[in-house]
Amino acid sequence: MLAWLLVPAAAAAVDVVLVGARLWDGTGAPVVEQAWVAVQDGRVTATGQGEPPAGPRVELGGRVVIPGLVDTHTHPWAVPGAALREETDPSLEDARRHGLRATLACGVTTVLDAASSFDAIQTMRAWEAKGLPSPRLYFLGPTMGPTDGYVDAFIEGHPGIDDLDDARRHLDRLVEVGALGAKLTIEDGYFLPVLPVHEQALREQIVAEARARGLPVFVHAQHRDAHAQALALRPHAVMHMVRQRPGDLPARYAGQGTPLVSTLQLDASPLWTVDERDLDDPLAHLVVPEAQRRTATSRRGWRRYERGMARVSLPHSPGALVSLASFGMPTLDYLRAVAARSLRTARRMHQAGVSLVMGSDAGAYDEIPFYFHGLSSLREVELLTRAGLSPEQALLAATRDAAGLLGLSGQVGVVAPGAWADLVVLDADPLQDPRALRQIHRVMRGGELRTPEAWVRGSLRAPDPR
Ligand SMILES: [Zn+2]
Repeated sequence: MLAWLLVPAAAAAVDVVLVGARLWDGTGAPVVEQAWVAVQDGRVTATGQGEPPAGPRVELGGRVVIPGLVDTHTHPWAVPGAALREETDPSLEDARRHGLRATLACGVTTVLDAASSFDAIQTMRAWEAKGLPSPRLYFLGPTMGPTDGYVDAFIEGHPGIDDLDDARRHLDRLVEVGALGAKLTIEDGYFLPVLPVHEQALREQIVAEARARGLPVFVHAQHRDAHAQALALRPHAVMHMVRQRPGDLPARYAGQGTPLVSTLQLDASPLWTVDERDLDDPLAHLVVPEAQRRTATSRRGWRRYERGMARVSLPHSPGALVSLASFGMPTLDYLRAVAARSLRTARRMHQAGVSLVMGSDAGAYDEIPFYFHGLSSLREVELLTRAGLSPEQALLAATRDAAGLLGLSGQVGVVAPGAWADLVVLDADPLQDPRALRQIHRVMRGGELRTPEAWVRGSLRAPDPR
C-alpha cells in the first residue's frame, strides 16, 4: 500500500489527457460536465472531473465524448456493389482497406465480422498487425449452412456443413483461429423457399458441440418460422429483424432473454440512399467512395443490384430466366413500406422488453450497393431511435450492450479505467439527436486521436465506375 502511495509522480505520466469534455461514458451513468479522460499505452487509465492529472493535454472545449461504437454484425471483407461493378484486385483490395478506414472514421472502433472466410480473416489480421487503420476485428468465421444452402450457394469460402462431423471440424477450426463464436444459419431463401436447410435435430447437436468448445452461437434468421426455430436452440443471440408480422415472437424473445441483433438498416438503406438526402452530409461524402455512391443511386446500378439479388435469391433457377428478367427502380412508396415494416416489428420487440443490440450488417455482400461501411452503423443507431428507443437507449445498444454481447464488457463500449482508449469526440450531442453521431470532431482508437479525414487518408477514394 505504501509503495503505491509513493508512485503518484510516475503514475501521473500519462500519454495524453483529454480535458473539457462532456463525457457520456457508456456505462449508463449520466453525462459528466467538464470531465477529463487520461490515456496511457492505448488504454483509459482514469476519468474524472476538476483538476486533471499531469501530462500532455488536448482541450475539447465542451465537446461530447462517447465510447467508440461497437457494431455486432458487419462484413468488413465485403465491398458495397463491387460485384455489380465487376471490380477486381487490386482495386477490390484497396476498397476493402478503405472500408476498414471508413468504419473507424465513423467512430465505429469495434466490429464483429459475421461471416468472413478463413482466408479473409487471415488477410485482415495481417493488415491490422501491419498497423493499417482498422476497427478492432472479432470474427465468427464462415456461416454454417448446408451445401448449396445459405450462404454456400453464393459466397466463396463457406464450406457446406452437412453433418455433425463437418460441424465438428468447422468448430475445431474456429477454436484454432480464435473466433469469438460460431454462426449458424436458418435461411431457406429471401423470397421463395428454394434453399436447403439443416434438420432441427442437427442444429441442436451443432449448438451443443459449439457450447462444449466455449463458442457462443449466433443464429441468422429472417422469416418468422426461422426465428422460432432459432429461439428453440437457446442461442447466444439471433441476428436480423423478423421479416413478417412477428406474432408471439416478441414475448418469446423477452421471456427467454435472448438478445436480437437489430440490422434495421437492411430495409431502410435502399430508401435512405435514394431519398432523405442521406448521402449529402460531409461525413457521407468522406467515407462513401464515388463509385459506390453511383452504383447505389443510379438507375443502372439498381437494375444490376436487382438482378444480383435475383441471382442470390434463386441460385438454382435457370440463369437465363434471371438475366431475361427486367427490373427497374422500385417506387419510393414501396421502399417506405419495407422500411416501415421492420421498424414496426422492432418497436414491438422493444416494447415487449427484448434486448435489441446494434448490428448493421454493413457490407453484407458484394452484390448489395447500399450498406456502406461506417455509415451503416450510424444509420442503425438512428433507426433504433425510430423504433422507439430513446437516443440514450440506442447508444447503449451500440456501446455497453454490444460489448456485453461480444463478451467484451469493460474492454470496449465504455470510457472507463482499464478499457481500450477507443472513443469519439462529437461536435453535437447524440443524446439529443442521434444524427449528431455524424458530426465527428475526432476518433480515438487505442489512444491514437485523429480526425475522420486523417483516418480515411491514404485509402483509394474512387476507382472509376463503368
Ligand atoms: Zn450479415
